[in-house]
Amino acid sequence: TTDARATIGLTGLAVMGRNLARNIARQGHTIAVHNRTTEKMTSLVEQFGDEGDFVPTETLEEFVAAIERPRAIVIMVKAGAPTDAVIDELVPLLDPDDIVVDAGNAHYDDTVRREAALAEKDLHFVGMGVSGGEEGALNGPSIMPGGSEHAWERLRPVLTSIAAEVDGTPCTTHVGPGAAGHFVKMVHNGIEYADMQLIAESYDLLRTVGGLEPAEISQVFREWNDGDLESFLIDITADVLAHTDGDTGAPFVDVVRDAAEQKGTGRWTVQSALDLGVPVTGIAEATFARSISGHTEQRAAAAQTFGSDLARVEVDRDTFVDQVRAALYASKVVAYAQGFDQIKAGSEENDWDVDLGDMATIWRGGCIIRAQFLNRIVDAYAERADLPSLLVDPYFADAVRDGLEAWREVVATAARVGVPTPAFASSLAYFDALRRDRLPAALIQGLRDNFGAHTYGRTDREGTFHTLWAGDL
Ligand code: NAP
Repeated sequence: TTDARATIGLTGLAVMGRNLARNIARQGHTIAVHNRTTEKMTSLVEQFGDEGDFVPTETLEEFVAAIERPRAIVIMVKAGAPTDAVIDELVPLLDPDDIVVDAGNAHYDDTVRREAALAEKDLHFVGMGVSGGEEGALNGPSIMPGGSEHAWERLRPVLTSIAAEVDGTPCTTHVGPGAAGHFVKMVHNGIEYADMQLIAESYDLLRTVGGLEPAEISQVFREWNDGDLESFLIDITADVLAHTDGDTGAPFVDVVRDAAEQKGTGRWTVQSALDLGVPVTGIAEATFARSISGHTEQRAAAAQTFGSDLARVEVDRDTFVDQVRAALYASKVVAYAQGFDQIKAGSEENDWDVDLGDMATIWRGGCIIRAQFLNRIVDAYAERADLPSLLVDPYFADAVRDGLEAWREVVATAARVGVPTPAFASSLAYFDALRRDRLPAALIQGLRDNFGAHTYGRTDREGTFHTLWAGDL
């Protein structure tokens, strides 16, 4: 119809959708906007209408009619049942070849299901990960769209224009078919969990063992941010640690309750990793560390039973700061190596053909884990696409070798003092397990054969073996 003048439409104008819509309009695309509660739509157009060409619509019928065919419609509502509800209302109004984009934080299983349902109606469904929070949505997020090549070509001009940009390269690409986009977004969030846990353990060690005050630790993070740890998370850690509570004058970090919350993407990542058989120990420890922090009753009971006293260990402050930096870097390499392993395994399992180097490329800007470090990962996969692990890339291998002594020292010191460093310690254990010539898994195989006749392989010949144990009949 003649009304259909919008290049794209977006429904769901809460914080994320509103900012994404403004971003799209600011880039010169005509955008139809809709929200279940009309007030959010009118207030958007009233406040920001002069930023670009918005087509205000009050009903889904008007909304759909306002968009050029084949339509591209972005849904940015609460993940789960609300997303299904919107899809169900929308689909009867659409025509073959239209594209429905779910930009919410969907579980990738939901994306698989939704894509299959829409394909039956000749509609394209794109599960699209968007990272960067409110600020990113407005000024340039990292965008991870899955779905068909056809849908990507239709969306490409809009997505590349609104995504963050690093060195002239937009932080978006076609991740792969099906649920590849939401899967990669999930692992991104898992890595974010690990990154934050490693930062938190570093802070705890610097304060508890190193004796530094939050303001001093903030300074340390500022310095780290000038080196190979440079990243958004390190930068905002310096900000948060420098912040003083307005009411009490205490360091802000001291007035915050020490129970970390989670929305579930860390848990999803670990659940998926268990299914795929990929050891993402860093992400798992980070997720469990948040759970432990929330178990306040158990924590109180244990503190009462055992006391919370810590042992004293004398450290040279400057040396210790540098050791923690090295431990942080090495553990971070492990966390990313594991995350990329998971993407690779997910991609192989589902035939998504995800390019790992491209994922590092589109995470360089816009998203929460944006970092200099990702350039090294891009290089590593450019050098060798079939890298067995990021850890063995020459650059990262050197970095880990250089930091290894410090890493061990930090984990050992933490254990002696009694500061929990699950992510540091498990990353080191993972590294040592990978490089070990013989693992005690041999004994486990022996036990399994003994109690359950599960059989074992031998080091000296091919085949499957079972030993007749003394207890066997
Ligand atoms: P939200 O609080 O998750 O969702 C609110 C929006 O959902 C409103 O527009 C609301 O409409 C709509 N909605 C809820 N139930 C609905 C239903 N049954 N039918 C129609 N509309 C319904 O908003 P958000 O924080 O902006 O997040 C949007 C999506 O982005 C979520 O999937 C979230 O996980 C994802 N995301 C968020 C972030 C972040 O940093 N916040 C980052 C990345 C991704 P009404 O106004 O009518 O209630």
